[in-house]
Amino acid sequence: MILDLSTIVNIDGKKLDFDGQLDFSGIDEQGVSFVSPVSVCGRISNIGGSLELAATAKMQLRFECDRCLDSVDEEFECSFEEVLKKEDERVEGAENPDVLYFKGNSIELDEIILNNIIVSIPLKHLCKTDCRGLCPNCGKNLNLGECDCDTRPADPRFDILDKLFE
Ligand SMILES: [Zn+2]
Ligand SMILES: [Zn+2]
Repeated sequence: MILDLSTIVNIDGKKLDFDGQLDFSGIDEQGVSFVSPVSVCGRISNIGGSLELAATAKMQLRFECDRCLDSVDEEFECSFEEVLKKEDERVEGAENPDVLYFKGNSIELDEIILNNIIVSIPLKHLCKTDCRGLCPNCGKNLNLGECDCDTRPADPRFDILDKLFE
């Protein structure tokens, strides 16, 4: 998504609304993938000569459960803001790390939006809060039923007996 900023870039107080859909379907980021196109809507405002971007992105994400490794699809929404400045205002060696620079009068938003989505995605995902995970012994998904393994913690009294017979 490329936005033409020429109508706002030199005029303090001007605003530009935008919306659209982005396709990130090929991206797989730490077990998270995009099931639907990302719907984005936002506004870029010229505030005292610098451009401030505010946007909201909505999408359907597919997570892998941390405990049972099942796939779960979830609605995800995040909002973010960025400050944009013209490339010619960049001072070599004194760049502001919070500012994104653009060349000419247009800006490519895909990467900015994708980066903001990735940092907002929670690191831990469970298919449900009481997910029972996989049996550490046989690997069965315990949400689907018990397995035949004896996974009770060993009784510490037997450890003492074990030591006596060592
Ligand atoms: Zn799970
Ligand atoms: Zn088992």
